[in-house]
Amino acid sequence: MASIRILPPGLRNKISAGEVVERPASVVKELIENSVDAGATEIRVEVSYGGKRTIRVADDGCGMDREDALVCLERHATSKLLDEAGLFDIRTLGFRGEALPSIASVSRMKIVTGTRGNSPGVAVEIEAGDVREIRDSSSSGTSISVSDLFFNTPARKKFLKKDATELYHIMDFFTKEAIARHEISFSLFSDGREAMLLPAASGPRERILQVFGQEFLDGLIEVSAREGSMGLTAFISKGDNFRKSRSHQFVFINGRPVKDQTVSSALYRAYEGILPGGSHPVFFLFLELDPGEVDFNVHPAKREVRFEDKERIYRFINRHARVAVREKRDEHAGQFMEVPETRPAVPGSGLSCFPASGAAIVSENETFSYRPVLPFIYLGETFVAVSGAGGLTIIDHHAAHERILYEKFLRRLDLQSYQLLFPVQIRLSHKEYRLILENRDLINDFGIEVDDFGHDVLMVRALPSALEGADLRGILSDAAEAVAEGESPGKSLKEAVAARIACHSSVRGRNILNQEELSRLLADLEKTEHPGQCPHGRPTRLFFSLDDLKKMFKRK
Ligand code: ADP
Ligand code: MG
Repeated sequence: MASIRILPPGLRNKISAGEVVERPASVVKELIENSVDAGATEIRVEVSYGGKRTIRVADDGCGMDREDALVCLERHATSKLLDEAGLFDIRTLGFRGEALPSIASVSRMKIVTGTRGNSPGVAVEIEAGDVREIRDSSSSGTSISVSDLFFNTPARKKFLKKDATELYHIMDFFTKEAIARHEISFSLFSDGREAMLLPAASGPRERILQVFGQEFLDGLIEVSAREGSMGLTAFISKGDNFRKSRSHQFVFINGRPVKDQTVSSALYRAYEGILPGGSHPVFFLFLELDPGEVDFNVHPAKREVRFEDKERIYRFINRHARVAVREKRDEHAGQFMEVPETRPAVPGSGLSCFPASGAAIVSENETFSYRPVLPFIYLGETFVAVSGAGGLTIIDHHAAHERILYEKFLRRLDLQSYQLLFPVQIRLSHKEYRLILENRDLINDFGIEVDDFGHDVLMVRALPSALEGADLRGILSDAAEAVAEGESPGKSLKEAVAARIACHSSVRGRNILNQEELSRLLADLEKTEHPGQCPHGRPTRLFFSLDDLKKMFKRK
């Protein structure tokens, strides 16, 4: 690597400024990115107490000579940016020359580094930004240890979360960086124990496999495309593999993990008409662009980008993702028919209409008997229209089902759990695996019995009958995500997890209910505490009285 220089003031002012060190995970990210830029083939990360006590990142990259090991601690000192033109041709992850001095100023740092040449290595110890000791050392590559983060800024330290939570953030960042660079071997150790071991992989597919397992990968379609200077490799949800959160969405541009609205909306739109409400696709998108077409100098932590031609990127991603999703859909034709064959439809009409028997519906403001003679009509796959009580009720049967299951889970009502004859092995990401194991009692309360099988694999031994046939991997993964998000105002952890699980199991069937099932659903809904809303606060049904209808038709 070129030697380090201090950026001239004119250039400094053109660089988006701001704090990059928020928490241990941000230190891990900055140090890993420096190792990547140094050309490392192996990066080892060790943390203790969620990174609050120590973080150490060691690499076998180009290292620094004695002089650079001191200069790198100065503000705006970088070997990666020479002049203004360089800002439009960024090929490294770093370029601001701010991370090391920022981290050093709020911790005790030790840099041990050496180049592969003849000059001896050096060990530098820094406390709160002041160099305390410089010694010779024999080493090549670089190891940077950061201890007692924020020891001198108690106000910032106070905002750190408990160790486990900080560790989960570290795992998230580590995972993103590792997926961005499959050719590098990555390892993560926490409190002396191996957490993630990812040997150099042959491509992104293998890296995703290492992190998430085969089953997870089986739910994805690979997309690859090239148009002029743009290249795309992506792994995206098959048309029936959706999540209840955005937790499995990754975007990399030229090897840099970023968040970008253009890219993600191009992808969401590829699932138009397939993606059920409240669901999210899984995606890993690797976009290669000419460095001149993308500006990384937007956000201090470089998480956001600006494209020169946003629409072109949007169309490129959307077109290729859409084609791949439709192709897969066609392969499984029937399974994804817009109008399921099993549905007892009235010939010739787009609707089905059949009588249901004895249940009661309580609408937002009225109660009425649901008599056998009342017809109900399916509108699409989700909505059921029922007439009676002087009006029309439209029910979202998925939302209704969710409400019922949610309360069953929370109140442990009719939640018969049964032992599986053949326990199911579920491989999760390491983070999800730990989250579930650490909250095993909570999960158990919902009738899901899991055991540790080691190596990120859980054994599911028992299940409530409501989850029979449901996507267990997705449920555990979403439950883990709900635990990671923690409780929110007005929602306990238990409620959050119950909502995720209920939501999952209720979308499993895209099937239309028959008369008996629908009657049971409506009866069960009335037994719940809040029949009017699904656990996410969406309505389960809407009631239009005759008066409402008159008003709508301007008859009043
Ligand atoms: P930036 O990455 O934006 O250049 P940093 O403060 O992160 O700024 O790092 C400053 C400089 O220190 C880098 O430009 C690089 O020359 C050097 N450096 C940092 N980490 C390493 C490393 N792991 N191996 C080799 N050089 C490094
Ligand atoms: Mg850097």
